[in-house]
Amino acid sequence: MRRPHPRIRKATKWSSTAIALMLLVAWGASEYRWFNLETTNWTTHLGRGGMVVVYHDSISFRSPPGWYSGKYDQMTIERTWWIQAWDTSGGSLPLPYNRVRFPLWIPMCIMLPLSGVAWRFDILARRRAQLPLCQNCSYNLTGLRPGSNCPECNTPPPKAEEISSS
Ligand SMILES: [Zn+2]
Repeated sequence: MRRPHPRIRKATKWSSTAIALMLLVAWGASEYRWFNLETTNWTTHLGRGGMVVVYHDSISFRSPPGWYSGKYDQMTIERTWWIQAWDTSGGSLPLPYNRVRFPLWIPMCIMLPLSGVAWRFDILARRRAQLPLCQNCSYNLTGLRPGSNCPECNTPPPKAEEISSS
C-alpha cells in the first residue's frame, strides 16, 4: 500500500492547524470588536461569531473601500448561529439574496478535528518510519544490511531526511 509522501503529510498537518488557529483567533476577536472590509460592491463583515457578506449596487451610500473596525457600542450586531441568506435591497439587485450570514463554528468543527487527525497520522507515520519496514509493502527489513533493497518488492530504502524530519 502506498502512503502519502511525508511532505504532503506535513503540509496537511500545518495548513489545517494554521486554518484552525486563524478561525479561533477570528472567533475570539469577533467577540470584542467588529471588522468590516468594504470593496466596490461588497461588504465583508466579521462580528459576534460569524461572517456576513453583503452585495450592494455601486450607488448605495456606504463607507469608501477599506478596512473598518470598532467596538460594539458603535454598532449592534446579532450573534450568528446558523447559515442565513436574505435580501435587504428590496429586489433591486439581480440576485435572490444580497446578504449571507455564516457562523464560524461550522468551519471550526471541520478544521479542529481535521488538524487533530493530521497530527495523529503524522505521529503514527513517524513511529512507523522508525521501524525497519519497507515503505512500499511494509515487509519487515530487520536483519538486512542497511541500505539494501526490500527482498519482497525491490524498493530501495527511504532516504534519511524522509525519516528524521518532522
Ligand atoms: Zn517491499
